Amino acid sequence: MDSILIIGAGAAGSVVAKKCAMNRDVFRKIHLASRTLEKCRKIQRECVSEITVSQVDADDTAQVIRLIEEQKPDLVVNMALPYQDLPIMDACLATGVHYLDTANYEPKDEARFSYSWQWAYHDRFRDRGIMAVLGCGFDPGVTGVFSAYAQNNIFDEIETIDIIDCNDGSHGKAFATNFNPEINIREITQRGKYYEDGKWIETDPLSESQLWDFPEGIGPKKIYLLYHEELESLVKHFPGIRKARFWMTFGDSYLTHLKVLQNVGMTRIDPVPYKGTEIIPIEFLKALLPDPASLGATTKGKTCIGCLVEGTKDGKPKKAFLYNVCDHEECYREVNAQAISYTTGVRHDWSD
Ligand code: NDP
Repeated sequence: MDSILIIGAGAAGSVVAKKCAMNRDVFRKIHLASRTLEKCRKIQRECVSEITVSQVDADDTAQVIRLIEEQKPDLVVNMALPYQDLPIMDACLATGVHYLDTANYEPKDEARFSYSWQWAYHDRFRDRGIMAVLGCGFDPGVTGVFSAYAQNNIFDEIETIDIIDCNDGSHGKAFATNFNPEINIREITQRGKYYEDGKWIETDPLSESQLWDFPEGIGPKKIYLLYHEELESLVKHFPGIRKARFWMTFGDSYLTHLKVLQNVGMTRIDPVPYKGTEIIPIEFLKALLPDPASLGATTKGKTCIGCLVEGTKDGKPKKAFLYNVCDHEECYREVNAQAISYTTGVRHDWSD
């Protein structure tokens, strides 16, 4: 990879830029562009080697095309928000440049993620001779690699995959989200959904939970069933699978704050009249909450994210938990970020 263009100078984008800057044998030319130039400049100052920066509004395909034509990257890495996936993909198609992101597209006015919008680009990307790697963070991302590894190396047949995501970190704030607050709250407050025996089954938000005993000293934590985007691709790529679910840990204080915010309407995504104008409550809430990029300095503890896979090997039942544990403070020492941003932005399966 000679030249890379990273769009999005937030918590995870900062990790991508800094790690690329540590690997100049792979990334000769690095350009970071985002909506707020000052955030790019701050990351530029913190990189261990020289990167260039500029301002872009990635909702505007024409601006992204101009940026790609100026920078001539081999790959565009979209570390902005899911709303920008389609305009950036359109710019990649127009210029013939490879594309990678970490979260699937969702429209601003509807909290519903689905790969269908991006999968609809498949033939156009193929015909243009370019690649789009979708959902290439940790979950989705590494969890897909774990599932494929389990299929190829551990099991003859996989029956169930449970993706289990634990953040056992503590940031010392009353309420904060460890990635973009708007995207995080939209994801958690929507109805749960999982796949079983050929059908998608819906549940009330956060209505199903269980205790799960995490390894490496983390211990038992309550995990809640959510719908998450990689379930859609797992079911597509593991056609024989019987059950696929996604679970995440939440502390009681987080859930209590979320409930109150929901009850008073602060998580609404529709415009609300206010003093002669209109505001979208969740966008205002995001402005009040801690920036996930600022949490690294105070976050202690670990994350543990993995796939619990059940199936058969040599005719016998088999179970395996493939996981990664990441320490918040170690991530901060390396790139000034907490472990959720770190695991999103860093490759975990490096090979030359
Ligand atoms: P942040 O909010 O910290 O960063 C998002 C960045 O995108 C901000 O710098 C923001 O600019 C920029 N941005 C927003 N809109 C535009 C636009 N129109 N044009 C240009 N730049 C824009 O979020 P995170 O870093 O926490 O998350 C980034 C992405 O990573 C999200 O899509 C999230 O869902 C995904 N993610 C994926 C995970 C995985 O494991 N797969 C895990 C965690 C996150 P500004 O600074 O001006 O607001």
